[in-house]
Amino acid sequence: AEKFVKNAIERNLPVIYLMLRHRDKEFKDLNWHWFCITGYKTEKEEVQQRQIKNSCIHTASIQANEINKNKIKEIQALVPSTFQIVSLEDISCFEDIPETADTIEGNAILKANYVTEKFGLNCFADDSGLEVDALDGAPGVYSARYAGEPKDDEKNIDKLLLNLTNKTNRKANFKTVIALNYEGKQFLFTGIINGKIITEKIGTNGFGYDPIFIADNYEKTFAELTLQEKSTISHRGKAVKQLIKFLEEKND
Ligand code: IMP
Repeated sequence: AEKFVKNAIERNLPVIYLMLRHRDKEFKDLNWHWFCITGYKTEKEEVQQRQIKNSCIHTASIQANEINKNKIKEIQALVPSTFQIVSLEDISCFEDIPETADTIEGNAILKANYVTEKFGLNCFADDSGLEVDALDGAPGVYSARYAGEPKDDEKNIDKLLLNLTNKTNRKANFKTVIALNYEGKQFLFTGIINGKIITEKIGTNGFGYDPIFIADNYEKTFAELTLQEKSTISHRGKAVKQLIKFLEEKND
């Protein structure tokens, strides 16, 4: 991984760091995986096609559990194949990032700013949550720990279904905000997928609230979709697409 970063730095090209929450149940606490994108391309390729060709996010030794791997794969599936995801652990970067904002946007900004301020680097960070209409947007920014500590997807779902007992309005949406600090400016990319909460869990794919969420115009829950299918329509997918488009334009 270091090779990619060094290469980019030597060539005076942008290095962008991405932080993703580490969902390892063994740790039962807030941990982070950091990733970075290095962007570089050869002159020849630049002439050949006006898109990022040799940029890379490198998937180097990500110590992730299955759930976190899903999230990484989900993002990986959306970036051009010339991008790879890099764990910042591989470049010996370990920090415990506070996540104390009371909005999804706020947390994304907080995380991105933390890296930019502490390390003086371009950085992007994401934060996501489920917003349920009948619960005034809850669990929202508190989605991961809706049922308390330690965070537990099953308990979160049980609590949500309990709070929605007898509610006829089952409308909900997932939201992802990516905050990007790039060359001294901040950019926000928001992805939203609307849908509804069903009354019982269906499906085994994915993570979090996937088994009880059905997107509009779909019949299957997120947990019944393949990773690829979910990525195409998901909140995270939409936000990442905007980010990638932005980065591609920056590389034009
Ligand atoms: P994060 O900011 O991506 O870690 O998301 C925070 C929490 O929101 C997760 O722990 C899940 O409970 C919920 N969540 C976010 N995205 C999804 C998703 O794609 N499927 C199911 N639950 C999600």
